[in-house]
Amino acid sequence: MAQKNFTTDVVIIGAGIAGLWLHNRLNQMGFHALLLENKTIGNAQTLSSQGIIHGGAKYALNGILSKASHAIGDMPARWQACLAGKGDVDLTQVKVLADHQLMWSKQQLSSKMVSFFASKALSSRMQNVAKLDQPALFQDPKFKGALYRLEEPVLDITTVLNALAKPWQNRILKIDNITWQKSDHQVLSLLVNNGELGIKAQQFVLTAGEGNQALLDELAIKKPVMQRRPLQMVMCKARDPAHSLPAIYAHSLGSGSKPIATITSHLTDDGNIVWYIGGNIAENGVGKSFDQLTVEAEQLLHDILPWYEHPELEWATHDINRAEPKQSALSRPDTAFVESKDNVHIAWPTKLALAPDLADNIIEKLKGSSLMAGKHEEVTGLPTATISPTLWDSKFK
Ligand SMILES: Cc1cc2nc3c(=O)[nH]c(=O)nc-3n(C[C@H](O)[C@H](O)[C@H](O)COP(=O)(O)OP(=O)(O)OC[C@H]3O[C@@H](n4cnc5c(N)ncnc54)[C@H](O)[C@@H]3O)c2cc1C
Repeated sequence: MAQKNFTTDVVIIGAGIAGLWLHNRLNQMGFHALLLENKTIGNAQTLSSQGIIHGGAKYALNGILSKASHAIGDMPARWQACLAGKGDVDLTQVKVLADHQLMWSKQQLSSKMVSFFASKALSSRMQNVAKLDQPALFQDPKFKGALYRLEEPVLDITTVLNALAKPWQNRILKIDNITWQKSDHQVLSLLVNNGELGIKAQQFVLTAGEGNQALLDELAIKKPVMQRRPLQMVMCKARDPAHSLPAIYAHSLGSGSKPIATITSHLTDDGNIVWYIGGNIAENGVGKSFDQLTVEAEQLLHDILPWYEHPELEWATHDINRAEPKQSALSRPDTAFVESKDNVHIAWPTKLALAPDLADNIIEKLKGSSLMAGKHEEVTGLPTATISPTLWDSKFK
C-alpha cells in the first residue's frame, strides 16, 4: 500500500510530442489525464527532431506518391489550423521558424521528375521557385540547378512543448520509477517512486518512445515489438557569431530517393545560427567517430553548396534512435501506430508531424473502451516535469 493514493481517468507515460498532444486533448475534453515523465519534457526524440511538419513531398522523390506521403498529406493543414488557434490544440504561441521549406538540386531535374512535381497530386504541395524569388543563398550565378518550395512549416520545438504543456502543467509529473499493479487481464494502478504514491486509472497509454520497450517488458506484453533506427545528426555554427550562417530550411536532392541532407536552422542563446543536418549523412554517420563524421559533413557542404564559402565552423554531433513499431527489414513505418492490450495502449507517432493523427486514433480506442470522465483530486507530493534545454544549448557550451 502506497503512502498516498490518487485516482485519475487516464495515465499517459512519456512526455514527448505524442504524450503531450494526447494529454492536452484529453484534459480539454473533460477527462482527468495525468502525464508521467522520468526525465524532462521533450528530452528524447522530440527535441532531437528538425521540427518539420512534413506533408509527404520528401517521400515522393522516387517519382511515386507512396503510402507514407498519403498518410501525412493532411498534417501541415492540421498543424496550421492549431497555429491559427482554430485546431484541436492551441499552438498560437508557437514560433514558426519558416512557413515553408526548400528543396534544391545542383543539377536540373530530369524531365520525368519535373512533370511529376508539376502533376496535379504534387503541385499543391510544391512549386518551382523562379530565379528572382530565390533566397540570397541561391541567387549566386554559379547555382544552375532546380529549386522548389514545399508548403511545409518548420517549428521551434521548445515553443511547441511549452504551448502543449502549459494549460495542464499541474498534471504533468516528474517521476523516478513505476511499479505496475495488475489483475489477470488489466492494469489496475501503478506505484511511483518505490511505492511513495499510488495512482489508479481506467486506462493507461504508453507514449514513452524508446522507453516503451522496457515498459512492455515489465508488463509482460510481447506484442507489439519495437524497432530502433539510429541516426548520428550533425550540427555546425560559425566560430564567430558576427559571421553567422544564413538561416535555411532545405533538402538537398541527389539522384537517390532520399535527400542527401536536410538542413534546418536554429538560434542559440548568443544569437548565432546552428545548421542541424539530417538525411543520408545522419543515417550513414551511425558508428562513425566525431572526427570522421565532421570531416565528411564539411566535405558535404562543399559538394551541395559549392558556390557558398562558409565561415570557419564549430561542429557537434548527436546520436539518437528513432523508436517505432517493428517493420520488416527495419523499414520506415508509414503511419502513426497504436495497438491496445486490454486497458494498455501502446503508441508511437513515427513522425512528429503525425502526433495529431495519433491522438485521434488513441482517443477512438479510449472511447471504445467506455472511458468515463470522473472528478478527481489533483495529485500532490510530486514535482511537475520541466522542459528540456535545446540541443544547441547543451551541445555547444
Ligand atoms: C534526429 C531526428 C529528427 C527528426 N525530425 C523530424 C521532423 O523534422 N519531423 C517529423 O515529423 N518527425 C521527425 N522525427 C521523428 C519524431 O521526432 C518522432 O517521431 C517523435 O518525436 C516521437 O515522439 P514520442 O513522443 O513518441 O517520443 P519521444 O520524443 O522520444 O518521447 C518519449 C518520452 O518518454 C519518456 N520516457 C521514456 N521512458 C519512460 C518511463 N519509463 N517513464 C516515464 N517517461 C519515460 C522520455 O524521457 C521522453 O520524454 C525526427 C526524429 C529524429 C530522431
